[in-house]
Amino acid sequence: MTVAAKTSSRPPVAARRDWLAALKEDYALAVLTLGGLLAILWLAPFAVYRALTHNWVAAVADTLLSLVLGGAAIHAWRTGDTRWPGWIMALSIVGGIWAIGYSAEFAALFWVYPGVLMMFFLVPAWAAATLGAAAIAGAAILSWNELGGTEGLPFFVITNVLTGVFAFLVSQQAHQRISRWQTLSLIDPLTGIGNRRLMEVEFAQPFAGRRAAGALAVLDIDHFKQINDRFGHDAGDAVLRDLAAVVQANLRKTDRFYRFGGEEFVLWLPHGEPATHVAVLERVRQAVREQVRVGEQPVTLSAGMAVHQAPEPWQSCLSRADAALYRAKREGRDRVVWQPAEGAHPPPRQ
Ligand code: GH3
Ligand code: MG
Ligand code: MG
Repeated sequence: MTVAAKTSSRPPVAARRDWLAALKEDYALAVLTLGGLLAILWLAPFAVYRALTHNWVAAVADTLLSLVLGGAAIHAWRTGDTRWPGWIMALSIVGGIWAIGYSAEFAALFWVYPGVLMMFFLVPAWAAATLGAAAIAGAAILSWNELGGTEGLPFFVITNVLTGVFAFLVSQQAHQRISRWQTLSLIDPLTGIGNRRLMEVEFAQPFAGRRAAGALAVLDIDHFKQINDRFGHDAGDAVLRDLAAVVQANLRKTDRFYRFGGEEFVLWLPHGEPATHVAVLERVRQAVREQVRVGEQPVTLSAGMAVHQAPEPWQSCLSRADAALYRAKREGRDRVVWQPAEGAHPPPRQ
């Protein structure tokens, strides 16, 4: 296995050179950016204007809103995470609309429309519907006279519900397209487990900033070429499928398992001591030997494991695991070899 020094792992969005492409491919990020721009270009000057006209409630609300919305957008760009900023922005929209309504402004009525529209792209549909209803009700009650009372209410509600339904349909389609694309591009179609691309995307997070303690293992089927040659490519494919299922059945919930390519797999064991990691790998190795067959012949695998030394990049940890795998092959296959950290002692072999 060759571990590329530089890989295509997904960097934080801000690091992407093509920010326009980032906006196009991530609708939540686009809506957050729109909200952030609105906060800086529209709400912030308004906050100053409200203060000058001594409308203190609106001045404080506009200032808070522009800080929160701007902050949420900046956070999304810096980390690539749109979930929390989405919730914060959706809640701020409701709070903002209430605050505008409270300061007796007809403007609250107008803001409900883009507010309802944006929410469906920021939070799950049930939350968007609930928060949207809260925004509609708040604006209607607080700006009752500007609305035209009972005469205006049905029109206000119906046009807003239509806006919400439209936003729901479009956001659901976008969401489905994205998850279909993710399944196609991140899941290995043969084994149903994550592929190398998913591994790189997922590793970009825990390995980048946080001090991740855990171990990486490289698993490689023994004499797989012979299996293909003797039993045919289809039988080889069936072995890959069976092996992936058996390995997965023997992992803990937090362990991550990927098909790296061909008959090589990568396992990320984020929790526990090296001795526990080796025990997991031994259990996996044993299970494969007992449960995966081609013809009457048992299938075996070799594994190399390395403990992650924070803050090293995952690639260097994987290289050490790979070196351990080669040792496992040289020492006769069907075994787990641990490449210990500097100065550490390997746990006793079972
Ligand atoms: P070793 O014990 O040293 O690992 O020997 P090996 O034969 O397993 O190793 P080698 O890397 O030489 O062979 C890997 C083979 O895996 C070569 C290739 O034909 C086969 N292979 C790779 N991807 C697939 C696949 O998707 N399906 C099938 N059936 N075979 C595959
Ligand atoms: Mg190989
Ligand atoms: Mg092999």
